[in-house]
Amino acid sequence: MKYLEEFRDPELARRLLDDIRATVTRPWALMEVCGGQTHTIIRHGIDQLLPEGVELIHGPGCPVCVTPLEVIDKALEIASRPGVIFCSFGDMLRVPGTDRDLFRVRGEGGDVRVVYSPLDALRIAQQNPDREVVFFGIGFETTAPPNAMTVYQARRLGIRNFSLLVSHVRVPPAIEAIMTSPDCRVQGFLAAGHVCSVMGVDEYPELAERHRVPIVVTGFEPLDILEGIRRTVRQLERGEHTVENAYQRAVRPEGNPAAKAMLADVFEVTDRAWRGIGVIPQSGWRLSPRYRDQDAEHRFQVSGITTVEPAECRSGEVLQGLLKPNQCEAFGTTCTPRNPLGATMVSSEGACAAYYLYRRLGLPAAPPPARSLPVVPLEASPVA
Ligand code: SF4
Repeated sequence: MKYLEEFRDPELARRLLDDIRATVTRPWALMEVCGGQTHTIIRHGIDQLLPEGVELIHGPGCPVCVTPLEVIDKALEIASRPGVIFCSFGDMLRVPGTDRDLFRVRGEGGDVRVVYSPLDALRIAQQNPDREVVFFGIGFETTAPPNAMTVYQARRLGIRNFSLLVSHVRVPPAIEAIMTSPDCRVQGFLAAGHVCSVMGVDEYPELAERHRVPIVVTGFEPLDILEGIRRTVRQLERGEHTVENAYQRAVRPEGNPAAKAMLADVFEVTDRAWRGIGVIPQSGWRLSPRYRDQDAEHRFQVSGITTVEPAECRSGEVLQGLLKPNQCEAFGTTCTPRNPLGATMVSSEGACAAYYLYRRLGLPAAPPPARSLPVVPLEASPVA
């Protein structure tokens, strides 16, 4: 397939690997931010092909995985209410809340529907004026613009029975949190190309300079990843720390101005809780005051949520790159995609799911002791 096959060419991959091997003189730890990149890396065994000492740490860039338990529980509560049609992308339905998931709510009679676009949910609202329709808007800078556009459209068309349950997060503050964590081992970043195709690269040079860390914007095919690694280790070996765009076929420095304008109109930046990590300042979006009446949290006034994370799930450490999924004792035993204990095993972008799909042999690895997590505890979540 055009634009796929040429980015999976084995001969070119070999040449890039040779170049990386010829460049590296000492160990380096790089983090790929995005869960889609993690899946490419594990699926194609890229981490196993790298020279010894070059480690890929899997980052927190899986939108389903970082959606806080409080928000999942709020979704479950809203979806259970009579008169509500709760719409979501399919991968959220099996994410465990404290005591059930959206599938269970549907089994118990809730009207939970899988949609392929937020505009589908808006259409459902138009067709059901006597029902309240809620869309579960989660994700990074990639999914936020269409959700913002849908809220804007609802307002423009006068559709008053549509609201958004928002849990959008932003990548640059997460990089800041990772770099300031006392456990941080990351020396270079592969930034998520699709995020930068929306937001551009303006936010990264300051981060790269302050933390003296190279940041290379990278795509999602094997050659994209290898080229990102090649450029990152080249900078590290030279003692450089700049931002490079290795995904120029999709990313312009300024990003997508129309999408950014829509985000600025509908959302405002806020502190946001990340599941397994805690509250990261200025790391998310919420609806701006002008659109607050379309905020499902505001409309449904969900309160009294008490969350309980499964004790054996170590996805917080996985999301911070402190633990490989197969180092979790539950991996592949009590936790599988069929019976997931944590969101990182559910999501198609989750690191635990990637390891389960592509790397189940010879595990579990010896688990390191549980480590205390940095940042602010989830109880302080602004969305709680
Ligand atoms: S393998 Fe399962 S229990 Fe372990 S960290 Fe991943 S999601 Fe949590």
